[in-house]
Amino acid sequence: MSKTASQFDFNLFKQAKVFVAGPCSAETEEQVHETISELATACPQISLIRAGIWKPRTRPNSFEGIGSIALSWLKNAGKQVNLPVATEVANANHVEKALEAGIDVLWIGARSTVSPFIVQEIADALRGVDIPVFVKNPVNPELALWLGAIERLEQVGLKDIAAVHRGFSTYSKSIYRNVPNWEIPIELRRQAPELPILCDPSHIAGKRDLLFDVAQQAMNLQFDGLMMESHRNPSEAWSDAEQQLTPLALKALLLNLNTEQKAVAKSEDYSELKEFRTEIDRLDNYILELLSERMSIAKEIGKYKKLNGIAIHQAERWADTVRRALEMGKNNGLSENFILDLFQKIHKESLDKQTEE
Ligand code: PEP
Ligand code: MN
Repeated sequence: MSKTASQFDFNLFKQAKVFVAGPCSAETEEQVHETISELATACPQISLIRAGIWKPRTRPNSFEGIGSIALSWLKNAGKQVNLPVATEVANANHVEKALEAGIDVLWIGARSTVSPFIVQEIADALRGVDIPVFVKNPVNPELALWLGAIERLEQVGLKDIAAVHRGFSTYSKSIYRNVPNWEIPIELRRQAPELPILCDPSHIAGKRDLLFDVAQQAMNLQFDGLMMESHRNPSEAWSDAEQQLTPLALKALLLNLNTEQKAVAKSEDYSELKEFRTEIDRLDNYILELLSERMSIAKEIGKYKKLNGIAIHQAERWADTVRRALEMGKNNGLSENFILDLFQKIHKESLDKQTEE
């Protein structure tokens, strides 16, 4: 396997939170150097620098990246502060150029993870190369595509792979630029417990005032680190101006972050936690028994409807059920989204059970 001599030590993930920061895009040599040297001084926690050189933009005619000329700006700026550097690659040519320039870590962007052809092209270009690769989630909320991209990289022999959660596109109104759908990275962790997962609050939040809360939530959920955009002069940035922080603002954010939360899989040393968990387990069992009882009745209803020529799905009855659940949920402090999601799942299972009859 050819060594790229990546300066990024992947074992860091086993020892500490990994903080990655840098501008959304490399713009000029001066901007890259200034931002990186300010970052290195202000935020000693940072162990990897990022900058986009080829920028996948949703619409044409916005800044599409400065191109390969910036690879040496990035690498040299990193060398000056003794930090490894990362950039996004979206095809085999990018991979080749980035490897030639000695870039230490590659990442696959959300608009690429979504395409198995692109991911396979990148994977093929990396066959036999030993370099850390970070895989952002696909733009759509689909865990299988995210896992699929990671598997394609594993199949060509890459060992140092991490995931980056940057949120998902939505057509609904949202305070976020990309909705976090935290349950998806949580499920990724369940299915791939050894895979380091970073959070990218910049692309989730889309604006500065939400960054801290997203970053803190990622820490609360035991993510392995953060990737954050920082620019020496954010309002003048050529891309993602609203979500970038100055190195000093990033310093303040990182200092305020509570990153010291421990994992407690076994509650032996925490007797109260143990009691709470016992109670939760008891209630979970109870919920499952009730659901099972509900589904048995659904089966009976299914038989009855069939015998009497009644359609399985009754829109009015369903609308009533949801209205009642939302009302009761509200009175009991449960959010509308939660109740709706829960009842849609219950209803689907119930329809399936009725159909089986
Ligand atoms: C980026 O990190 O600058 C970027 C383009 O992110 P994403 O692929 O998450 O949109
Ligand atoms: Mn960006």
